[in-house]
Amino acid sequence: MHETRFVQQIFTALEKKLTKKASSAQATVNVRLSPLSHVSAGNLLAAFKELSKGMDLKGVSIKVQALALPLACNSCNRSTLITKKVFSCPFCGSADVTIKMDKEFYVDSIDVKRKQRKSVKKRIKG
Ligand SMILES: [Zn+2]
Repeated sequence: MHETRFVQQIFTALEKKLTKKASSAQATVNVRLSPLSHVSAGNLLAAFKELSKGMDLKGVSIKVQALALPLACNSCNRSTLITKKVFSCPFCGSADVTIKMDKEFYVDSIDVKRKQRKSVKKRIKG
């Protein structure tokens, strides 16, 4: 299952980013998913939800963005970046194109928002 492998990558990235104390912090994981991947954003989010059960990741949300793939046309020699499932040249319509797919998925960045405490109240007994 591809999506399981991708979710493991998200967990690994989160482990590096979040310390134990910040495990319940609000975080957004920005991931890039190839438009030619067999895994859809929906599959990925569902797998994350399933696999993160029992983990302290309530504040973590996943933002899936399209991974731009370089497409080179062998007919008109133009090149572009595609973020959708395309198998022909967007300029001349030729199907003689080369799409470079070195990556299918990666964790782009993690934005951590820690709750700011306005004041720390200390109760001293006695
Ligand atoms: Zn072309």
